[in-house]
Amino acid sequence: MKHRPIRASILTHNLSHNLSVVKKMTNDRPTWAIVKANAYGHGLEPALKAFSQSEGIALLDIGHAALARKLGWSGKILLLEGIFSESDLNEVNALSCDMVVHDEQQLSWFVGWLSQQTPTIKAVFLKQCAIWLKLNSGMNRLGFKSAQYGLSYEIFKNLGCTVNHLTHFANADDSSKSPSVGSQWEIFMKATQYVDGLKSAANSAAVINHTQTHADMTRPGIMLYGASPSGVYQDIAHLGLKAGMNLRSEIIAIQEIQAGDRVGYGSQFEAMKNSRIAVIACGYADGYPRHAPNGTPVWVGKQGNIADGQIAPIVGRVSMDMITVDISAIPDAQIGSPVELWGELLPIDEVATHANTVGYELMCGLASRVDLEIL
Ligand SMILES: *Cc1c(COP(=O)(O)O)cnc(C)c1O
Repeated sequence: MKHRPIRASILTHNLSHNLSVVKKMTNDRPTWAIVKANAYGHGLEPALKAFSQSEGIALLDIGHAALARKLGWSGKILLLEGIFSESDLNEVNALSCDMVVHDEQQLSWFVGWLSQQTPTIKAVFLKQCAIWLKLNSGMNRLGFKSAQYGLSYEIFKNLGCTVNHLTHFANADDSSKSPSVGSQWEIFMKATQYVDGLKSAANSAAVINHTQTHADMTRPGIMLYGASPSGVYQDIAHLGLKAGMNLRSEIIAIQEIQAGDRVGYGSQFEAMKNSRIAVIACGYADGYPRHAPNGTPVWVGKQGNIADGQIAPIVGRVSMDMITVDISAIPDAQIGSPVELWGELLPIDEVATHANTVGYELMCGLASRVDLEIL
């Protein structure tokens, strides 16, 4: 039986390779491999396999932490936003997770919960679950301000917790913006200078651009999946990072049109000359960006060998289930020819740039109707 031909192949060996690149760039420092958002759309299961050499994984949802344990992940797990209610702590404990604590509310839930536990449960928690106190060093999203940081640290310490330290940069990919990495780093160092515990600050952009912030544990996400935090594909290619996903489909129809004919909803493309238009089984309901304009690249390959191919431009509006591409320059292309929407042949950053977005959004937006094929 032949099904609708779109699929996302997850390149597990490339994900592993990208982790080894991070390790090399950071002098083998421990890493939290960030696997939130279903491993940036790649699926938790292949990500766990690919990142088995990582000291820990970091994610948001306790349900996903439970799934990771069920799939056999015995390494550390960090809950990046901590708990969302006091009762979450029962699962944090049962699953032996580390957790971020970023505000007074979470702190008081913890103090309340701990006071109700038996000495045995208390001892298990304190032994297995570290607190990662989060400092708001200028991004103003999550975290304690410097003025409250020391006191929060003391409270956890007095309860017998292992306390580590974490902050997040607003502009690690862009040195022209304020607050700079340098200023946030200084605030982080100052807030943590008299306390013990591990420190973690570097996301992908800081791993790449700010060596001095690698600290005790790095937190790479997007670079593990082979895309650039700044959207500049060349930055990724010269580090030797490789695509984590090939999103591929096929040509399912071809239209021969005349100069002056129009294509698709809203007739927003008008042919200047006689053209061959390929219809491809991929649309916004698959996660392809609807706002990708005329000219967004699609890789069109030869039957049987997709690598032997070339770029063709999108013409006409992206619809729910289809896109249309001008293949006038590719006479060999025919119904059934393989195409790549993004992946090893066509960097996701290039598609994202045309669509005025970032690789992150494209990966995370892959729709559940697209089958994942784990390679
Ligand atoms: C998502 C996230 C990261 C990873 O960021 P990338 O830009 O994908 O490397 C690191 N730390 C925290 C707290 C995050 O939420």
